[in-house]
Amino acid sequence: MAGIDIDGITKNFGRTEVLRRVDLDIRAGEFMTLVGPSGCGKSTLLRIVAGLELQSSGSVRIADTPVDSLRPRDRDLAMVFQSYALYPHLTVGENIAVPLRMRRLKGHQRWPYLGAFMPGARGIERAIAAEVEAVAAMLDIGHLLARKPGQLSGGQRQRVALGRAMVRHPKAFLMDEPLSNLDAKLRVHMRAEIAQLHRRLGTTFIYVTHDQAEAMTMSDRIAVMMDGAVLQVASPDTVYNDPTDIRVAEFIGSPK
Ligand code: ADP
Ligand code: MG
Repeated sequence: MAGIDIDGITKNFGRTEVLRRVDLDIRAGEFMTLVGPSGCGKSTLLRIVAGLELQSSGSVRIADTPVDSLRPRDRDLAMVFQSYALYPHLTVGENIAVPLRMRRLKGHQRWPYLGAFMPGARGIERAIAAEVEAVAAMLDIGHLLARKPGQLSGGQRQRVALGRAMVRHPKAFLMDEPLSNLDAKLRVHMRAEIAQLHRRLGTTFIYVTHDQAEAMTMSDRIAVMMDGAVLQVASPDTVYNDPTDIRVAEFIGSPK
């Protein structure tokens, strides 16, 4: 569990400034949602935290350690996107196990995960299977482990993607509009599931959405973004009842 400090992050694409000195302190274990209209810079900010994009200035610290020079995989974060990016030829169980295999066998073989049991590694195999089963049970997909992604619904695929993120035991989960491919009813259901998952894991979550209702229902705090800036960071209640800015009030749909 780790807090994430975003300090004076600026990002320019050519001459366009898409993030303007963003400061945001996310507490260890907190569910923080970045919400704002399309194009305001949410994904760019998340990608900078993940190390997938380089900021123009400013710095990011995870658990008080500057990570600006660290590669994405060395930041110990798990990213979940709207596209599930599952391996179509692997079963659900094998998909979830991918990060475990890559980590445990790192240094031995380059792509060792697909059924490449190392000699004497039976114990590791059993541990991986048990870990995958435990995670799948938490996500209610324990009965689907032998299926291929093509045989799953959208919601089930999103659970597999969550499971694959969970087995990494990341310092934080970064989620970029993970539910936007689902139909409205399932989206509402999955919101509750992700919020519950957060409570069970106690891990820091940064969740990105353009959907204010989603932000209001899931989050400990929300950061309202517009035009590359964070306008307000507060609990959903406070943002709704006491918006600091007319643009926040309009976006959130406050009565004022
Ligand atoms: P959001 O996730 O809030 O919809 P983004 O972070 O994706 O917003 O984008 C913020 C702004 O940066 C947008 O105007 C977008 O067009 C621009 N942008 C994002 N990525 C790039 C890129 N690789 N090159 C140029 N402009 C980009
Ligand atoms: Mg986006």
